[in-house]
Amino acid sequence: MSPRHVFGPVPSRRLGFSLGVDPLMPKICTMDCVYCELGPTTDCTVRRASYVPVDDILDELRAALAEPQRLDFVTLSGSGEPTLHAEIDRLIAGIRELARVPVAVLTNGSLLGDPAVRAAVAGADVVAPSLDAVSQEAFARVNRPHPSLDAAAIVDGLVEFASAYTGRIWVETLFVAGMNDGDEEVGRIREALGRIRHERVQVNTILRPPSETRARPVDPERLAVIAEMLGPLAEIIAVPGGPGQLRVEGDVAERVIAMASRRPVTLDDVTRATGAHRAEALKILAGLVEEGRLEVVQRGETQYYRA
Ligand code: SF4
Repeated sequence: MSPRHVFGPVPSRRLGFSLGVDPLMPKICTMDCVYCELGPTTDCTVRRASYVPVDDILDELRAALAEPQRLDFVTLSGSGEPTLHAEIDRLIAGIRELARVPVAVLTNGSLLGDPAVRAAVAGADVVAPSLDAVSQEAFARVNRPHPSLDAAAIVDGLVEFASAYTGRIWVETLFVAGMNDGDEEVGRIREALGRIRHERVQVNTILRPPSETRARPVDPERLAVIAEMLGPLAEIIAVPGGPGQLRVEGDVAERVIAMASRRPVTLDDVTRATGAHRAEALKILAGLVEEGRLEVVQRGETQYYRA
């Protein structure tokens, strides 16, 4: 079986060498953030379901772990919001059994108002929720949530979760120029953070091509002011060209070309070799085809790309 839900290890500033586990198919999410690097949300939902069989994911993980490699974390993230998987608790327990490294969950935090979701992720060592906005207006502008989602209720859910959870909480807050980077919204975020027990606040902006081309990054000077406003636990993780941006899309594209000029490659070959997320790898491959640098060759059910 070729890996479809396990990718990497991906070198990451936050998590060291992290093996990614994606429990969804592209792209199922509770939001459609303007800055999303996975492209537009195709299924914007709050319906939790067993989108992918847990046993299939664990089989892939078992195979990936059999390969000798440096590994610091196994991280649940992927093609959308991982807490939408209805059996994420069983998945986390299964990962813990197989891997001898800590488990992290990257989440947009939108479902943590639900006690069942809070209990389901409690088995992770690190939970990294996003908090980009506190006012409903900024939330709608930046995160374009499912209509049932309410910004204040999400903050309450985070507060509730943080008060009972015994693991580490790293909040990530991403700023988009002109959308959530004004003093007023930053002040609201600071206030909300005051209610949420956390260990770190990771301040970010857009580095990779966003879902919406009109979404612009916040300049480094303003980001520094924002980090200052957010208090002593805030650290800027968006460093263009620095260690925060470990994979530059252009570099990955050149690696793909180098591989494909030796032999035709599949999407799985690319995700395995580059650590790029599946949706991101697809985007890169599509771009290279459009530029005429790769061509698509169909062999049976498998699609190959060759230079
Ligand atoms: S950035 Fe995260 S929360 Fe936002 S649309 Fe993309 S996957 Fe969903």
